Amino acid sequence: MNTGHLYVISAPSGTGKTSLVKALIEKDPSIRLSVSTTTREPRLGEVNGRDYFFTKKEQFDRQINDNEFLEWAFVYGNYYGTSATLVKNSINRGEKVLLEIDWQGAFQIKQRFDRGMLTLIFIRPPSLAILKERLQKRGQDKIGVITERLATAKEEIAKSVNFDYVIINDDFEIAVSELYRIINSS
Ligand code: 5GP
Repeated sequence: MNTGHLYVISAPSGTGKTSLVKALIEKDPSIRLSVSTTTREPRLGEVNGRDYFFTKKEQFDRQINDNEFLEWAFVYGNYYGTSATLVKNSINRGEKVLLEIDWQGAFQIKQRFDRGMLTLIFIRPPSLAILKERLQKRGQDKIGVITERLATAKEEIAKSVNFDYVIINDDFEIAVSELYRIINSS
């Protein structure tokens, strides 16, 4: 049987993970990006079913009870979960499936998935000072939120030792190439 492979990518907020993943998929359109379910409100421009499946907490709880999630976690005040069926169907079709999830989800997947078909990748900023600059430039968050995200980032970076690969997103093009190389060699 043609077995697929699961790639989990985690990174602190503001590290550029979403842009990296977007560039990676442009380079290799055969990669399937899993669409998560969240209780967070959609941001401007986000589309239900493309960026996330947006749902209410009661529905999310029902999905937890019905074992519909491969993993789920509470991240920055909202719930997020990965659909077990979508991922398993893709893997069974022999596809490369990519999950863009937080470290808690990554650890759950690590416990549940066969190591031979799983690769965990952590993306980190060159330094906390540079991350702070990027969060400030992005202008999405208030000062208090930035301080909180920096403190969380520090804790998240400490968890990166449990990942198979750590990519430093200093030069964007180099980081995309590294990601592409890892995905095409495992
Ligand atoms: P955002 O709301 O900014 O899109 O995502 C916030 C955080 O939630 C990011 O770290 C993102 O990787 C994480 N996240 C998104 N989807 C999932 C998911 O299905 N499971 C888990 N555990 N984290 C997720």
